[in-house]
Amino acid sequence: MGLTMMAMGEIIRKFIRLFNYKPFKMLNIIMFGAPGAGKGTQAIKIAEKYHLIHTSTGDILRAEIGNKSELGMKAKTFMDKGELVPDAVLVDIIRSVMERNKTAKGLVLDGFPRTLVQAEELDKMLNANHTPVNLVIALETKDEELITRLLKRALETGRADDKEDVIKQRLQVYKNQTEPLIAYYKKQNKFHPVHGIGSIEGIFADICKEIDNLI
Ligand code: AMP
Repeated sequence: MGLTMMAMGEIIRKFIRLFNYKPFKMLNIIMFGAPGAGKGTQAIKIAEKYHLIHTSTGDILRAEIGNKSELGMKAKTFMDKGELVPDAVLVDIIRSVMERNKTAKGLVLDGFPRTLVQAEELDKMLNANHTPVNLVIALETKDEELITRLLKRALETGRADDKEDVIKQRLQVYKNQTEPLIAYYKKQNKFHPVHGIGSIEGIFADICKEIDNLI
């Protein structure tokens, strides 16, 4: 009777670990946040720790540009301006990632979905595989911090879209087209904000707490 909800939750989690019971067929995590919020850095660490497949749509598109493929050349015209690549292109990319990883332990999606259409299509694709989005981790930062980080990254990596005018456009696109997803995932009780300023390890520890609460 005296057990608090938290203590009960911990007992249930211990029980689950003890019997190696998997509450989910797959563990699908969306990394959410503005450009420069640290999604990529944290997604790599999550994928490594929980044995999930890391999928960065930005990296996939940059590889296509590197290969000078038709898709890459089309995507480049949008990326260079800081605009989003059309939904249909991204949905096809994610569909093929899913086809290839049907038996994976789960996915960490980094940079997808970025529009409501993409979120709805993602739900349809996952439903078809009888698995949902389990968790949306939102890295919260401030615009000044994002601009500083992206300008620093430009010096380190020379990424074509890390120029000040393009960065400002990407932040605007994030506000107009991607932020509406916050309400979409809040409604489903999947939205988990994490303070995104601090040490990489400190932020990762906070993210792991959110994941461990679920599994
Ligand atoms: P990122 O590496 O995630 O910052 O993405 C770099 C650029 O790739 C973005 O500014 C977009 O032009 C494009 N991109 C990546 N993911 C998506 C997406 N889910 N929808 C539309 N465009 C995307």
